[in-house]
Amino acid sequence: MDRRSFLAATLALAAGARSAPASARRPDPRTRLILLGTGGGPRPRAESSAPAQVIVADGVGYVVDCGDGVARQLARAGVPLASLRHVFITHQHSDHNADYGNLLLLAWTAGLRTRVDAWGPPPLARITRLFLEMSEYDIATRMADEGRPALGPLIHPHELTGGGPVARDGRVKVTAARVRHPLVEPALAYRFDAADRSIVISGDTAPSEDLVRLARGADVLVHEAMFLPGVERLAARMPHAARLKQHLLASHTSAEDAGRAAQAAGVGTLVLSHFVPADDPAITDEMWAEAAATHYRGRVVVGKDLMEI
Ligand SMILES: [Zn+2]
Ligand SMILES: [Zn+2]
Repeated sequence: MDRRSFLAATLALAAGARSAPASARRPDPRTRLILLGTGGGPRPRAESSAPAQVIVADGVGYVVDCGDGVARQLARAGVPLASLRHVFITHQHSDHNADYGNLLLLAWTAGLRTRVDAWGPPPLARITRLFLEMSEYDIATRMADEGRPALGPLIHPHELTGGGPVARDGRVKVTAARVRHPLVEPALAYRFDAADRSIVISGDTAPSEDLVRLARGADVLVHEAMFLPGVERLAARMPHAARLKQHLLASHTSAEDAGRAAQAAGVGTLVLSHFVPADDPAITDEMWAEAAATHYRGRVVVGKDLMEI
């Protein structure tokens, strides 16, 4: 199959994957990966939700990043909020953490009664404490009115300041790597090794050797992606154009370089996500996939909200 028809087949596969909601399909014994939000940047958009994904292993949810709307996206994906056990934040930018606290609170209103471990860079512990304090009135009212357990004691934040082993349970082993996303320090990528597959989430990063090392031999790499001509158009629309463009180029990765990273790491499937720009109609799925395939010979998937891979 030549590259063009391979891309066409990949896009067709991807279109099939998003034709039915994740919840409507047969339960899959595999470790599942569902993209909850694929647009980069905090500005709410009609077309795509903010960055978030969930890995479901053995019925247990591991959420990675909590952009705006993450709880609703989980509901739309058919993942019970009460199954939430682990939350991972790649870095403390609002497109990745705006709904971190809301996810915990809303999962609790949906019946969460068990421990949740949250992992991410500082000040995760302070963010957690202040969110619980801010929500004290609602929590106390619902405990009195509805007989719910206290939320605070269920939530266990763990601050991570660098790469290395993060957590391990009977289902997955989680490892982090420090990536390059100035001025945010630290910014992390996460790798999930389950019995049947390995999945890496890049978070936000400029091209990073540490990410390539973390992703070596993984089945799936979800990598952020920028389309450079679109970045010019995006920046031109903003009042702070020059600074924004400078930030994007210094802190993020082009789709071509995401392909380079996937090739260097030898991953089976590259999933593009965290699109910048996220809503430029001039950039088609084919253009994203072609750009990533410039330096990568594996399967490329152009991510969509609620797509399962
Ligand atoms: Zn981001
Ligand atoms: Zn960021």
